Amino acid sequence: MTLFDEPRFAEMKISGRLPSPKGVALEVISLAQKDDVSNQDFTRLISSDPALSARVIKAANVLLGKTARPLSSIADAVTVLGMRALRQLVLGIAMILDYKNGPCKEFNYRHFWMHSLLTGIAARHLAQQSRFGAADEVFVVGLLSAIGRLGLATVFTEEYGTLLKQIEAQPAQDILKLEMGKFGFDEHELSEAILTDLNFPKIFQSLVREYEHPESSLLQAGTRDWRLLYLLNIATLLADLAMETPAQRGKLIAQLKTTATKVGIETDALIEIGDACTQDWRAWSTLLGMEKLDIPPFAELLQQVDEAAEAAVLLPQYSGNEQAAYPLRVLVVEDDRSSRTLLEHMLKSAGHQVTTASNGVEALQMIQQHQPQIVITDWLMPHMDGITLCRKLRENPQWCDLYLIVMTAQGDSDKLVEAFEAGADDYLIKPIIPKIFFSRLLAGSRVVQLQVELALDREQLVRLSTDLSAANQHLQLLALTDVLTGLPNRRAAMERLEQEWALSQRGGRPLSCMMIDIDHFKSINDRFGHPVGDVALKSVALALRQSARTQDVVARIGGEEFLVICPGTDATEAFQCAERLRKNVEALSLAVATPPLKVTVSMGVSVKAPGMASIEALLNLADQNLYTAKQTGRNKTVLN
Ligand code: GH3
Ligand code: MG
Ligand code: MG
Ligand code: MG
Repeated sequence: MTLFDEPRFAEMKISGRLPSPKGVALEVISLAQKDDVSNQDFTRLISSDPALSARVIKAANVLLGKTARPLSSIADAVTVLGMRALRQLVLGIAMILDYKNGPCKEFNYRHFWMHSLLTGIAARHLAQQSRFGAADEVFVVGLLSAIGRLGLATVFTEEYGTLLKQIEAQPAQDILKLEMGKFGFDEHELSEAILTDLNFPKIFQSLVREYEHPESSLLQAGTRDWRLLYLLNIATLLADLAMETPAQRGKLIAQLKTTATKVGIETDALIEIGDACTQDWRAWSTLLGMEKLDIPPFAELLQQVDEAAEAAVLLPQYSGNEQAAYPLRVLVVEDDRSSRTLLEHMLKSAGHQVTTASNGVEALQMIQQHQPQIVITDWLMPHMDGITLCRKLRENPQWCDLYLIVMTAQGDSDKLVEAFEAGADDYLIKPIIPKIFFSRLLAGSRVVQLQVELALDREQLVRLSTDLSAANQHLQLLALTDVLTGLPNRRAAMERLEQEWALSQRGGRPLSCMMIDIDHFKSINDRFGHPVGDVALKSVALALRQSARTQDVVARIGGEEFLVICPGTDATEAFQCAERLRKNVEALSLAVATPPLKVTVSMGVSVKAPGMASIEALLNLADQNLYTAKQTGRNKTVLN
C-alpha cells in the first residue's frame, strides 16, 4: 500500500492545499484522462486560456528545439507532441506558474523550480541519448520529480518550515528521516502519491519515489526501468551541479561520472548532454522568467573531477564477493577513464591479473609483455578502435587463439555481426552489469582453461613421441648389432648388401665380399673354455674392423664367421684387402693364456661378375672359396 491509498492522503487532497493544477489546466488534466476525448475538444479547452496557451506553445517550441519547425498553435502542438505529452506539459507549466511563490518562508520556491526544471531538461536529453521513447514525458517526470517537497511546503507550511530551519542549522542530518519522523512519510512518498493522483504511468510513479537512491531499488539491473531510474538520478545530479558553487563541484562531478558510467554513459556523452542542457536553460529561463546560470562548458567542468572521490563512490559497489576459481591474465582496452577504472577494479577484486590500455595501439604495444589470456576491448576509441584491434590480433598467429570480448553501447545485430567477423569471441553491451559481466567472463575462462589443457596435452604428446622414437632407435640398433662384438649382425649385413647390390646394378660399380671363418676355433673353446673363446672372438672382430677400410662393412654373421662387404672394390683390390686382414689376424697375440694365444682365419673372396644373378650367387661363391681355403690348408685367401 502506498501513501496514495491512505486516508491521510485523501485528507490532504480535501484540504485543497496539495499542489495541483488549477483552472483550465485542471480541466485539461481531467479531460485528457477520459478515453473518448477528441483532439479538437482538447485543443479548444487549452486555447480558452490565452495566457496559458501562449506559454504552452512557447514551451513546446523550447522543448522541441531549433531543429523542428516552430509550432504556432495548440492544434499544432497536439499533432506534434500527442495528447499525452501535451497534457503533461500543460500540467508542468501550470504548476510552475501557480507555485512560483508560496506561504512557506523557509522554502526557496525559485530555487526549487530552477532545480526541477533543470532536472526535467537533463532527463529529457538523457532519455533521448539513451533512445528511450517518450522523451517529452520524461521531461515532465523530471520536472515533477521533487513535487513532494513542494507538497510538504504547501500542506504543512509551518512544520516543514521548522524542519528546514533545523536542517539549515545542522546540514548533516538526513532530511528524509526528519520528514518521516514528523509527518509519517517522506517527500518521495508524497511525490509518488501526487503523480499517482495525476494519473501518471505506473513506472513514473515509482521512479519519483526511488530516484535519489537508485542503488537500493529492487529493479533488475540492466532493464529499461532500471536505466530510466538511473537516468533520473543522473538528471538530478546534473541539476545539482548546475546550481552548485564552483568550489563544491568536484565531489558532485565524481558522483555524476560514476553513476553515468554505471549505466554506460561515458564522459563524451555526458559532455554533449551537459552542454545541450546549458543551451536549453537559456531558452527556458527566458520563457519562465528565471535567472541565468553561469555554467562552464562541460568538457572543462568534468575535468575538475575529484578522482579519489570518484573511486570511493564507484568501486565499493562493484567489489566482487566471488573469487574467480581460475584467475586469468586480462587486458582491458578502454578509452573512458571511469569505465576503465571500473573494469580493472571488478576484475582485480575477483582475483584476476589486469593490465589496461586506453586504445588499440597501446594494447598492441603491451600485449607481448603481458601475455593476456583474455582481452576485453571497447569498440569506439581514438587512434585504433576495438574492431581494428581484433582484426590485427587475429592476423597474428601468436594471438589467433586469444579470447576477445568486445564491448559495445548498442546491441544491434549488424554491429554484433561486424564484431564477430573481426574475430571477437563474445560481446558485452554497455552498461556493464556485474552479474552479466562475470558470467561472460566465466564462459571465456572455460575456453582459456581448455586451451591451456590442450597445450599441456600437446606438450606431453610431443615429449612422449620423442621418447618413443629414441626407444625405437635404440631397439633398431639392438636389432642390427651383434651383442658380443658390437659389429653389425647378419641381418644388418644382408640389408646393407642389398643396398650395395642395387647401387652396383644401377651404376655398374664393382662390388666384392669376403667370407671369413676362424680356423680350429673349436679347439680354443675346448682348451681354454668358452669365455676365453669369447675374448678371442672379440679380438679377431676388432682386428678385422681395424684392418678393413672405412667404406668396408665388417659384420659377424655366425658363431665365428664374418662377412666383409667391400663396395666399389674390384678383384685385385679385394684380394689385397683380404690378405691384409688375414695377416693382421695372424699377427695377433692374445694375452688370454700363456704363452699368448695365436689365431688364424681362412677367407673366401667373391667379386660381382657382370651377369651374376643374385646376392646369393655372390655369397655362395665366397662360401665355396672359403671351403677351398679350408681344404687347402687354412690361414689363406682364395679368390677365383
Ligand atoms: P674349422 O677350421 O674347420 O672352421 O674348424 P672349427 O673348429 O672352427 O670348426 P667349426 O667352424 O665347425 O666350429 C665352430 C666352433 O665355434 C663351434 C663352436 O663351439 C664355436 N663357437 C661358435 N660360436 C661361438 C661363440 O659365440 N663363442 C665361443 N666361445 N665359441 C663359439
Ligand atoms: Mg570508447
Ligand atoms: Mg665355422
Ligand atoms: Mg672354424
